[in-house]
Amino acid sequence: MTDRLTLHLVDPPPAPPPAVRRAPLRWRPLLSALLLAGFYALPWLRWEGRQALLFDLTARRFDLFGWTLWPQDVGILLGLAAVLATTLVLLTNLAGRVWCGHACPQTLWSRLFRWIEQAAAHCLPAAPARAAKHLLWLLVAAWTGITFVGFFSPIHGLVGTPWPPAWSGWETFWILFYAAATWGNAGFLREHVCRELCPYARVHGVFCDSDTPRMHYHARRGEPRGPRVAGLGGVQARGRGLLDPTSASDYAFRAAHEDIAGPMPHFSADRLGDCLDCGDCVTVCPMALDVRAGPHADCIGCGDCQDACDARMRAWQFPTGLIRRASPSAMQQRPPRWIRPRTLAAASTLLALLGIGLHYL
Ligand code: SF4
Ligand code: SF4
Repeated sequence: MTDRLTLHLVDPPPAPPPAVRRAPLRWRPLLSALLLAGFYALPWLRWEGRQALLFDLTARRFDLFGWTLWPQDVGILLGLAAVLATTLVLLTNLAGRVWCGHACPQTLWSRLFRWIEQAAAHCLPAAPARAAKHLLWLLVAAWTGITFVGFFSPIHGLVGTPWPPAWSGWETFWILFYAAATWGNAGFLREHVCRELCPYARVHGVFCDSDTPRMHYHARRGEPRGPRVAGLGGVQARGRGLLDPTSASDYAFRAAHEDIAGPMPHFSADRLGDCLDCGDCVTVCPMALDVRAGPHADCIGCGDCQDACDARMRAWQFPTGLIRRASPSAMQQRPPRWIRPRTLAAASTLLALLGIGLHYL
């Protein structure tokens, strides 16, 4: 069949077919598991006979691995909070929303709850899977509530008492409140928390610039997208090369806006780009985005779409990296800027805060 659009190709690289590579270690789920394990383990750590990390509100003391802060030390706590906030701003400027995608509690517990949901659906028929999912969600939420309160009230006192536990009124309230918040946020609200409730999501764009990495789809390599029979090889291997930027963004736009652009034309298999249009990157996205439509402010940079696409590329023996983290400057092949106003402002504020802290300690 004849293509109804003309392909504008540049730089066809005469590259050999890529070698099959083993899937790398999936570090993102591992990192999530480590951070969750750290949260649940921290209140159980002991230091010099006391709980290592305890904001003891009744005794009005804060134990931090042998270092004790009293009410008159509130300035140190405020200073620590300022240092952490400034570090987050600098990190956002240099690396994008890595906090959101890899360390934010909303992301970690949503991943855990989604994993429970998928494991239950995989192992059991529909009705028992639903029951098992809700039971496990409730258990995890309850233990999360107890662990959270264990940072403010000695954990051995919370779980060492016989049933029914002799929790005080405020302990009972906060355990139930935090358990309910975990269950609701991680089980049901999920990406709506990031979109509609999180203040950091509203302001993070202020800290970014054109050199801040974001998740990108390499449209020049991937378009025009479409299914094909196996064995044809990627655009490099068969010498098709990259599209020119205008054609690539035109095809990506048409594919994302069929309602106004009309259906995409049919392309013969040898003219297709490397995107198989399998939809894996969309299925796994916790924010329900299609990264191929372009960088989106709601993207939390979790990298799930990148992992899913890389797995698909490896299975087809195409080079990985069709979806990748890169700055807008890098995507336009502009050299990186090392002196940037937002970076300098955040770094100098952080240095000043650290200097003041060291002076008074
Ligand atoms: S587009 Fe990719 S990186 Fe962004 S939220 Fe979705 S899966 Fe995560
Ligand atoms: S996972 Fe990769 S190949 Fe599949 S639709 Fe997304 S970009 Fe295309």
